[in-house]
Amino acid sequence: MRALLSTHGSSGDVAMTEHAVVIAGAGPTGLMLAGELALAGVVVTIVERRAGQDLAGARAGGLHSRTIEVLDQRGIADRFLSEGQVAQVAAYLPGMPLDISDFPTRHNYGLGLWQNHIERILAGWVHELGVPIRYGSEVTGFAQDDTGVDVELSDGQSLRAQYLVGCDGGRSLVRKAAGIEFPGWDPTTSALLAEVEMTEEPELGIRRTPSGMHALGKVEYEFKDGEVVYKPGGTVGVMLTESHVGTSEPTLRDLSEGLIAVYGTDYGIHSPTLITRFTDMTRQAAAYRDRRVLLAGDAAHVHSPVGGQGLNTGVQDAVNLGWKLAQVVHRTAPESLLDTYHAERHPVAARVLRNTMAQVALMRADDRIEALRDTVSELLSMDEPRKRFAAMMSGLDIHYDLGGGHPLLGRRVPDLDLVTANVRLRVFTLLHTARPVLLNLGEPGGFDIAPWADRVQLIDAEYAGPWELPAIGTVTAPTGVLVRPDGHVAWVGDQTQVGLVDALTAWFGLPTAA
Ligand SMILES: Cc1cc2nc3c(=O)[nH]c(=O)nc-3n(C[C@H](O)[C@H](O)[C@H](O)COP(=O)(O)OP(=O)(O)OC[C@H]3O[C@@H](n4cnc5c(N)ncnc54)[C@H](O)[C@@H]3O)c2cc1C
Repeated sequence: MRALLSTHGSSGDVAMTEHAVVIAGAGPTGLMLAGELALAGVVVTIVERRAGQDLAGARAGGLHSRTIEVLDQRGIADRFLSEGQVAQVAAYLPGMPLDISDFPTRHNYGLGLWQNHIERILAGWVHELGVPIRYGSEVTGFAQDDTGVDVELSDGQSLRAQYLVGCDGGRSLVRKAAGIEFPGWDPTTSALLAEVEMTEEPELGIRRTPSGMHALGKVEYEFKDGEVVYKPGGTVGVMLTESHVGTSEPTLRDLSEGLIAVYGTDYGIHSPTLITRFTDMTRQAAAYRDRRVLLAGDAAHVHSPVGGQGLNTGVQDAVNLGWKLAQVVHRTAPESLLDTYHAERHPVAARVLRNTMAQVALMRADDRIEALRDTVSELLSMDEPRKRFAAMMSGLDIHYDLGGGHPLLGRRVPDLDLVTANVRLRVFTLLHTARPVLLNLGEPGGFDIAPWADRVQLIDAEYAGPWELPAIGTVTAPTGVLVRPDGHVAWVGDQTQVGLVDALTAWFGLPTAA
């Protein structure tokens, strides 16, 4: 049922519209979640404070390998790849690259693509799926009861939803109004971030001073032979580490003074389109769910942008949550399925937080830290550490704890080339509709999952090649694999079907009576 239910008058004259899910925020996380819910047939609407999708400033610079895979699972990766710059972008720190070209994935690279383009492409997809976005409207509060949530909007209207998801960024109103704690660490360092015009051609690249690391780059660039190549002229992106954690609203004058302190000149800066500040504040929501209210993306975790993990983690939160929330809305799975969202995604972001704290510490301007940086750099040039860290930074090693057993369990399924009775197809193609799939790689017809046939695709297929996992290597070929809509493996069959019914029930609900 895709129609909206409109009711009036339950709270005086205020119009109230009913939805299954309301998402606060049309950033990358909210857009991805909306797409996932819409694919699963859930009536969803997004409320976005901005007047449109336009984004002030560049923010995130691109996508890591696992996020590209996730988009490929929905058949939309090419939309991003065709607009961005494919390159080895993963790095532990600037100057410590982590090459993943030998990884067993179709996307053994990252993608340079600014966040405004990522959002525009995601919004186009969400639009095709028929999700309404209420731009220029803000969630100002909510009240939840046993059956739903009344979501108050800045325009005086109110939306009734079964669930509200706060994808409303680091200062999340939804998180605060839900009373969810946001423990962590106050900032130790801050940086001015700007996009400006310059009358003189600046010294591009990274410069280190006693106050820290600084960088000048062009917003327009391309990769040639693995190197960033800028065109002459054009908008310059400025990143200046401040000597003390800044708190006031930054100005063009602050920027000019900062440039002179580091470079001896401000290169004639003028016409800023963005002047802002970011810090290494590191915090994570203590709970990703309070009854009918959930958090995802920056609303659930904030940290330093070093390593480029934030947007990627948010998009992957959305892909973990979407199919679970859809099943709970459709009542094919119990509400307790939503607890697995926190259980799986909280540790992933907690690891990102720990890492970014380590990375920020390693960037400090201090002779001893520089010695430590050299040591880490040497370690990461060795093959095993490089693989471990590259798999982590690119998101390819994410492993949900679904119990012991075969190494595939809880990890992402590789995008193998399968041979079925009629066609050759890729595993990811089977995930385009965001429906789970049981791959039977043994005797054709060897599985009977009729009680789940309305929810789970059963595909008899052959695959003769190796099963390889990033940073782990070759694993034993399974005879059956149950793949969740997010691409993670929920069950592995090794000649037997032991545990399959339990896995189907746990992830996709009780069997339908014959
Ligand atoms: C300098 C910098 C560089 C970065 N580089 C990278 C990178 O290279 N790679 C990477 O992965 N990440 C990077 N990040 C992080 C990335 O930008 C964020 O993690 C990402 O934007 C989070 O997406 P989100 O959708 O969760 O939140 P946001 O992008 O913050 O979106 C939240 C949305 O909610 C809206 N909103 C807020 N409050 C309300 C409300 N009450 N009602 C309705 N709407 C509301 C906002 O207008 C916004 O559109 C960088 C960040 C910075 C600052």
